[in-house]
Amino acid sequence: MSKLEISDLHVSVNTEAGQKPILNGINLEIDSNQTHAIMGPNGSGKSTLAYSLAGHPKYEVTSGSVTLDGEDVLDMTVDERAKAGLFLAMQYPVEVPGVTVTNFLRSAKTAIDGEAPKLRNWTKDLKNAMEQLRVDPEFATRNVNEGFSGGEKKRHEILQMEMLKPKFAVLDETDSGLDVDALRIVSEGVNRVRETTDVGVLLITHYTRILRYIKPDFVHVIVKGKVAEEGGPELAERLENEGYDRFLSSAV
Ligand code: ADP
Ligand code: MG
Ligand code: MG
Repeated sequence: MSKLEISDLHVSVNTEAGQKPILNGINLEIDSNQTHAIMGPNGSGKSTLAYSLAGHPKYEVTSGSVTLDGEDVLDMTVDERAKAGLFLAMQYPVEVPGVTVTNFLRSAKTAIDGEAPKLRNWTKDLKNAMEQLRVDPEFATRNVNEGFSGGEKKRHEILQMEMLKPKFAVLDETDSGLDVDALRIVSEGVNRVRETTDVGVLLITHYTRILRYIKPDFVHVIVKGKVAEEGGPELAERLENEGYDRFLSSAV
């Protein structure tokens, strides 16, 4: 079992107007067999948290720490984070010209493991994962993200998660822009990974609908860069009924 610990994390974004504080002391502890939903109103800092974990250069950690099994994540390069077992879909470029999905996945896996996966099992697993995610075999021969629809990008994200088998996966708005069928297929993919490997999932979402398919163990509501409330799955149900109004009126 692994542990991801976020302690008193303060993050500013570098804008043309200067540094703007976004996260004001986030604390989270995730075990690699747990799923945590990070929820909150638009603009509360959810994606900033994801980008900070990914090591995006625009987001500057001004204080606090992030550790994976005691190792300082903030000190790691983007590649080192992946090797340590962090999966952050947004760390990859929007388009990877000339690199097919198959080659991209295989070289990512090779970089993370330090050796190439055994071809026979790899090919079988990839075919299997693609079938389950209902992606056309032709998809594997396309260049990464080149002309992908919103739904294809999300499926590719989950395909990566299935094939790379990370210790922790940060999924930011995986549900956005998916119709009900696609949402179910993508959620089933996440659940397959949860059932078959020891993975901690940080499921970032504004809406509750994906949580009907992916049951979180814990729910954290971020408002204005701080955790405003935490609880079990019942908190998501409450948000589904009540929305975020009570947080917004009290957090001013
Ligand atoms: P969420 O994902 O919860 O909707 P974000 O983390 O995207 O929220 O944004 C939080 C706040 O930080 C917002 O006010 C947003 O405008 C600001 N912000 C985030 N990224 C940037 C950026 N690159 N440049 C300027 N402001 C940003
Ligand atoms: Mg614990
Ligand atoms: Mg966001």
